[in-house]
Amino acid sequence: MTRTDVIVIGGGLHGCCTALHLARRGLRPIVLEKNTVGRHASGVNAGGVRQLMRHTAEIPLSMAAMAAWETLAETLGPELAANCGFVGGVGQIGIAQSAQEMDWCHERVAEMHALGYDFEEVIDQEELRRLVPSVADICRGGLVSRRDGHANPFRTTQSFRRRAEQLGARILERTRVIGLEQGDGGWTVTTDNGVFRADIVVNCGGAWAWQAGAMVGEGFPKSHFASTLMVTSRMPHFIDPVVIGIDRVLSFKQTEAGTVVIGGGILGDPDLDEETAETVADRMMESAETVYEFFPILRKATIVRTWAGLEALMPDIIPVIGPSRVARGLWHAFGFSGHGFQLGPIVGSVLADLILDGESPIPLDAFSPSRFTAEGKLKPQAH
Ligand SMILES: Cc1cc2nc3c(=O)[nH]c(=O)nc-3n(C[C@H](O)[C@H](O)[C@H](O)COP(=O)(O)OP(=O)(O)OC[C@H]3O[C@@H](n4cnc5c(N)ncnc54)[C@H](O)[C@@H]3O)c2cc1C
Repeated sequence: MTRTDVIVIGGGLHGCCTALHLARRGLRPIVLEKNTVGRHASGVNAGGVRQLMRHTAEIPLSMAAMAAWETLAETLGPELAANCGFVGGVGQIGIAQSAQEMDWCHERVAEMHALGYDFEEVIDQEELRRLVPSVADICRGGLVSRRDGHANPFRTTQSFRRRAEQLGARILERTRVIGLEQGDGGWTVTTDNGVFRADIVVNCGGAWAWQAGAMVGEGFPKSHFASTLMVTSRMPHFIDPVVIGIDRVLSFKQTEAGTVVIGGGILGDPDLDEETAETVADRMMESAETVYEFFPILRKATIVRTWAGLEALMPDIIPVIGPSRVARGLWHAFGFSGHGFQLGPIVGSVLADLILDGESPIPLDAFSPSRFTAEGKLKPQAH
């Protein structure tokens, strides 16, 4: 039996970041990962670092995350920060093709201004063309968030892992949590690789996080989905910002190597039990067609690979971050519903504040685990 302060379930970006911040504050976290670090969503995502078009409840957290991306070297040191491949300030642009989409952009910016946020701007066709010269004439303008950018997801997760280890965290791969029990001596965490004791458990289990909830009788939605991506062979540099669709399924960015990573919400086939997900060729064709329509230059591209990743999906499309509603000393951070990479550098720091100080300067009420019923359904008032 191994005794420590904190067990973190899950070696994705959020688990590694949580371990890093807890270790930084003097605790001795052990991360238990059933596969390998970054094997799931955190290592295979599109790398979009996007404040643009977020759920309004997520904006304070997302803004704090953006500040954390821009100061990664303070958290990770210069080498590990550089390894993340973060490119900020190129902007993310939501492209509008129809008059209705342009109307929506104006309404969205008005709503943002009313809430006191000014980082989203409506752009007309001329500004869109200045930012993205290769865009097709059918695109009328859109919405831009100029500070946004992208990073390399696998290398980012590994950087957070390494820094956590440098600060004293232990990461155990191929270690699956199969039981959680609270007693007088704290938590007993049973795995297929030994038994651990800890005062605190943090559940960063991604698409499987509801299982840790179920181990203590705390219901959460079991829903998940497979998000897909494809990548082209190298192309001459033609775009800096990340572009996404408003009503259309579109998302892509060009990496420093020249490859273009294309995604945007096309679903694959998830298999939670087998812990894998597959792309579906016909659906990928649909995604490619929108990209060709908006960016004719990509007709010359060769798709070299497609893949899919598993992600937890909450009914209100925002994560669960906060203390368990049934047990003391258990904390949750999961359910990022397709947009948790950008939040990666901040959630662990917020959890460390909550666990050690009992509060966070960032408003988190919307993410409370208590918005769900005992059966794991969203409470009516939380809709
Ligand atoms: C294809 C794709 C594209 C995406 N693109 C973007 C994007 O551009 N921008 C953005 O912001 N977000 C994006 N996302 C979402 C983002 O990747 C996720 O929100 C984020 O990575 C979630 O991190 P996590 O640490 O919560 O989960 P994960 O990375 O899934 O990590 C959870 C880990 O917990 C482990 N685990 C679970 N249960 C147990 C257990 N019982 N015992 C031990 N280990 C356990 C799992 O094996 C897993 O490794 C995308 C997601 C996908 C799939």
